[in-house]
Amino acid sequence: MLEIKNLHVDLEEEDKTILKGVNLTVEAGKVHAIMGPNGSGKSTLSYVLSGRDGYTVTEGSATLEGEDILEMEPEERAAAGLFLAFQYPVEIPGVGNMTFLRTAMNAQRKARGEDEISAADFLKLVREKAKTLKIDADMLKRPVNVGFSGGEKKRNEILQMAMLEPKMCILDETDSGLDVDAMKLVSEGVNALRDAGRGFLVITHYQRLLDHIKPDVVHIMFDGRIIKTGGPELALEVEKNGYADILSEVA
Ligand code: ADP
Ligand code: MG
Ligand code: MG
Repeated sequence: MLEIKNLHVDLEEEDKTILKGVNLTVEAGKVHAIMGPNGSGKSTLSYVLSGRDGYTVTEGSATLEGEDILEMEPEERAAAGLFLAFQYPVEIPGVGNMTFLRTAMNAQRKARGEDEISAADFLKLVREKAKTLKIDADMLKRPVNVGFSGGEKKRNEILQMAMLEPKMCILDETDSGLDVDAMKLVSEGVNALRDAGRGFLVITHYQRLLDHIKPDVVHIMFDGRIIKTGGPELALEVEKNGYADILSEVA
């Protein structure tokens, strides 16, 4: 589904290399987790994949179902089925949440040559999905994320994901700032989307999210590279011993 090869990325503004040769393949139907100390480049990887400005790819490639995504505009990546749930969800004053969702869905449909969703079908779908995430009618009407609590913003990201049904979902620290109940809701939302045709990349600091979203593969990222890959037991090892053992082992 997603294939990243030898990806090197510099910051545009500063003379600084952040990603130093990332190799990663996420197969359809699988959940890959990325853990790693702060500043390792996890968010940078997700930003570069989603097409955010400010980065220069100096080497390597990233493809979604064989198509070069680095050449695409952000909206083309979204239309191709890539979705990023941000570590810090953006507030969009003046744009109602439902309007945003419907516009995003229709843009995606248009790019795929499909008809727009009818108002009635959209309402039915959004209400159904919102209900499972305990997002009420008021939150659906308010401007996107404006004045939402941390947990509400993260649930709203999952609502966007559930509506858009992407092929490849990247979640950047979706668990940070969530209380136990919100984390359960978010995890259930993610698990409901797990499907043989869909890949997930879950970036997290904590094993506790992976208690709810069981990963198939766990990667450890450090200093712009993936330095270790293993099964779910790797996350448990990190939880127990921190990164020191892994770092010295690799060094
Ligand atoms: P992580 O998500 O693993 O904590 P990030 O991708 O956020 O790591 O950051 C990786 C490194 O890049 C850090 O050292 C961070 O300070 C640096 N960095 C990222 N964005 C910028 C920026 N816009 N300006 C300066 N440094 C940045
Ligand atoms: Mg961080
Ligand atoms: Mg980060």
